[in-house]
Amino acid sequence: MKYKHLFGPVTSRRLGVSLGVDLVPYKYCPLNCVYCEIQNTTHLETERRAFFPVAEILEELDAFLQKAPHLDYITFSGAGEPTLNSSINTIICHIKEKYPSYKLALLTNGTLLDNDDVLQDILLCDLILPSLDAASEEVFKIVNRPHPSLTAKNLIEGLVKLRKAYQGQIWLEVFIIQGITDTPEEMALLRQAIARISPDLVQLNSLDRPGAEEWVEAAEPERLKEIREYMRSGLAMPVEIIAKIKYQTGMSVLDDELVELIKGTITRRPSTAEDLAAGLDIHINEISKVLRELNIQGKLHTERRARGVFYTWIA
Ligand code: SF4
Repeated sequence: MKYKHLFGPVTSRRLGVSLGVDLVPYKYCPLNCVYCEIQNTTHLETERRAFFPVAEILEELDAFLQKAPHLDYITFSGAGEPTLNSSINTIICHIKEKYPSYKLALLTNGTLLDNDDVLQDILLCDLILPSLDAASEEVFKIVNRPHPSLTAKNLIEGLVKLRKAYQGQIWLEVFIIQGITDTPEEMALLRQAIARISPDLVQLNSLDRPGAEEWVEAAEPERLKEIREYMRSGLAMPVEIIAKIKYQTGMSVLDDELVELIKGTITRRPSTAEDLAAGLDIHINEISKVLRELNIQGKLHTERRARGVFYTWIA
């Protein structure tokens, strides 16, 4: 069966072997983060809708899961914000009823969680990985470039509500942009907000491959360590660095076949991640993951042009 909504399974340090489920078309998101590795948001929206017939997604899940593959997680993620899909609860309930041994993870930017309907929809997930990069309205606007109806205050309140309503694990991801999100004022506000949200774990991330805007750069490893210590000193939960940067390679397993396909293509012709996804007929998130690893390993040359970031293989 050719899958339209499923991708992977991919292997990562955070989630182990994970089957991706993409619930929204490229690229519907309430945010347009400057660091987004799948580039600029084309549909900056907060309105929820079904997007696809839910039976289509359930059929794909049934086809894949009936073989009882080994998976550490089934993960709602993709090229946009999964909670925008108004059928997410139907899909979660279907998996939980028919395949109760599988654990569900949700990658979300958290922007819709102050809506009680959204919150109720996702409570059966086993692990929720929301993001919070800024606590002041000013930095939130610079970094996350939200839909005009969204505020950092509502995002934080939504995450506080999630913690109160949800019994599962919350791993909060914080993306660091040196000089912008790590000023003393912003760090203090962020730490206060995280203390209120009280996630089970805080994970600091930084850029692994070119983001939506050229000026965004990876944070220095030393700076990330300082931020980790600052956060640890005021928070009760563990804080860790998940940014890989150059010195931390070899943590994920790459699909050799996919690496060869990508290498074969970009050796001949520089391509964007979107070109590779379309040309190889492989989900953009799977392509993104491999490009990220290869970039960390120094195997790619990148060049930003009008149509996006182009990748070439360094021989
Ligand atoms: S990083 Fe996530 S939340 Fe931000 S624009 Fe990209 S998909 Fe949306």
